[in-house]
Order: sequence, then C-alpha cells, then structure tokens
Amino acid sequence: MRVYLSADMEGVTGLVDAADVQPGGRDYERGRLLMAEDVNAAVRGALAAGATDILVNDAHGPMRNLRPEDLHPEARLVRGSPKTMGMLAGLEPGHDAMICVGYHSRAGTAGVLSHSFMGHEIEDIWLDDRPVGEIGLAQATAAALGVPLVALTGDDTACAEAAAWDDSITTVTVKRAHGRFAADLLPVTQAHHHIETAVATALSTRPPTAAATGGEHTLAVRWQSASVAAILPGIPGVTTTDSRTTRATGELPALYRLFGVWMRVAASLTNQAPYC
Ligand SMILES: [Zn+2]
Repeated sequence: MRVYLSADMEGVTGLVDAADVQPGGRDYERGRLLMAEDVNAAVRGALAAGATDILVNDAHGPMRNLRPEDLHPEARLVRGSPKTMGMLAGLEPGHDAMICVGYHSRAGTAGVLSHSFMGHEIEDIWLDDRPVGEIGLAQATAAALGVPLVALTGDDTACAEAAAWDDSITTVTVKRAHGRFAADLLPVTQAHHHIETAVATALSTRPPTAAATGGEHTLAVRWQSASVAAILPGIPGVTTTDSRTTRATGELPALYRLFGVWMRVAASLTNQAPYC
C-alpha cells in the first residue's frame, strides 16, 4: 500500500498563533517539532495498517518546516518550494490513499489560523459553485487521480469542513477553536494516540482504489484586489465574473496547477506570498 501524506501546519496539535507557524516566529522551532510529531503519529498508523511506501509532502509556507532528521525513518520527504503542484506535490495515481495532517478551515471561518492559500488576498474560492478551501481542493484533486482522502487532522472547524465536504473522510480533532488565534488543546500525547489509531483504522477500511475520474470542473476565486482579477484574464481560458472574481474550467489536477499560477501572479502584484 502506497500512502501520500500532505502536511500543513496551522492545524497541528498545540499551535494557535502566527508566531507558532511562521519561520522566525517566537515559538516556530517548537512548532515545527510538534508538526513532525503529528506527521510521525500518522506514519506509525499507516505502517500499522500495512503501508509499504509513505511519501510526506511539506505543504506549509516555505515548505521547509519538517527537518528530515525529525521525520519517522520509514517515510520519505518532499521538501522545498516552489513545486508545480504545491501542497499536493508528488501525489500520483499510484497512491492508494491520501492523508492530510495539520490542515485548517477556509478563509472567512472562525477556525484556528483559517485562510485559503494566501494570508488575506483570497476571500473566497468555489469549485463547481461550491465554497471550498484547501481541504476540499485537496480532496477533489486527489479524487480526480483516483486517490481517496481517507483521514484529516486539524481543529474542530477543519474537521467539520472536511466532513461536510466528504463524509467518508475520517477526522481527528486535536484542538477546539476559540476564534482564529486561540484553542482548547487536546493533551499532546492523547492527540498523537488519536492520530495514530484513526489513521490505522481509516487505511484498513479505505475504499478500493478507483480509476482516475477526469471530467471538467469550474474554479472561481474572489480576490481582495481588483488588480489581480484585471491581470489574470491574460491567461488563455481565464475569465472574470465581476471586478474581483476570476474563473476557469478544466480537468483536475491541471486546474489545481493553474490556480498555483494565479497565486504566483497575485503574489507579485500584492507583495503577499502564497502561504498555504
Ligand atoms: Zn499552512
């Protein structure tokens, strides 16, 4: 069994503030170790379920948060940025399942460190007219490759968002949000135990690997800056629906990759880096 693991940071056990998750932040060095420990708990669960190949993609910010020496010795690591598929780099149809660790809820929610891919620049995203954030786009892109998202860890709002998007996802709540910058924390050792056992169970009962689905999807993004929406239609196939919203139709994962290009353009126009 080949398992793909996308590791974000805002939804990691114990972390609640930008200073915990941004390089240079006061508690970042501690935060990256807690991130590795959540990932390692998921890796232990995957191994217990019979995984023979585990690929971990560092999917947060500069994507160099996980130190190779902190990672479980049975897991391989994709490290660094930029990557053409960003948070989903390395995911391929040969994977039997995907796990998301440390994920967070979408922009506009009251979840811990909630946002969608960029700090403030992206106000809303829709996939096929359904509001979506990083969780839903990860699930849909993996599903298009025939890979089920079987388990996700994060705060209670991220878990609720995942369950509402696809009720077959096993969720592990490691903290309860008290707004965007505070949370009621599950004790660390309990959180690790829950992640390990939930991942093992989710992989053991996962649906059979499906064929890649193909099919067209429509992605729409509402930007904070009208200047971003004014520039993006220069890319063939991109249209606007109002002064701040851009739209494109295509197959996943190509559409996810196109969205990555949009964010690079938005970053250059607003001096706001893609954050994830
Ligand atoms: Zn992140």
